[in-house]
Amino acid sequence: MTHTLPKLAYAYDALEPFIDAKTMEIHYTKHHQGYVDKLNKALESHPDLQNKTAEELIKDINAIPEDIRTIVRNNGGGHVNHSFFWPTLKKGTQPKGEIFQAINKKFGSFDKFREDFKAKAVGLFGSGWCWLVLDKKDVEIITTSNQDNPLSMGKIPILGLDVWEHAYYLKYQNRRPDYVDAFWNVVNWEKVNENYLKAKR
Ligand code: MN
Repeated sequence: MTHTLPKLAYAYDALEPFIDAKTMEIHYTKHHQGYVDKLNKALESHPDLQNKTAEELIKDINAIPEDIRTIVRNNGGGHVNHSFFWPTLKKGTQPKGEIFQAINKKFGSFDKFREDFKAKAVGLFGSGWCWLVLDKKDVEIITTSNQDNPLSMGKIPILGLDVWEHAYYLKYQNRRPDYVDAFWNVVNWEKVNENYLKAKR
């Protein structure tokens, strides 16, 4: 199969002013599309891998032939990460449901969770992602470099924040902490709760 860019469920300006329309457009049509194109190109020479989903490819990255392993890791990861990211963004939802309970139980309070998440997101050197994941029975915050995905470590993503500069530089320039603060206004908690329930199954 050929990997394709998933449809966005909202307009580029839907997350304004927290994430600006220009950033959304470039992020989706250039960066995400770029990962999809490079993944497809790499798989051209490996028809046996073409029936696998992008998640399957990155889950067991060491099973990928060495000549395309790094390309699949970066671009398959980029495709999986962004496909996961877009639906978790929406203005105006409130944390609730089982994920809210799990967060409060693990971190003591929702504010403490946000504080820990921000510290990890800001502290990540260079490009990567900050995640809330399910590790066996427990939620935890981790970061990954580049386009690595928690699935490659046996952990299931519940919420993720892209902290590559391409995700925020137009509006926030070097101010990653401001971008992380703004992120809380556009988390789609209904989707995140859904991700948590699915992860627990
Ligand atoms: Mn990105």
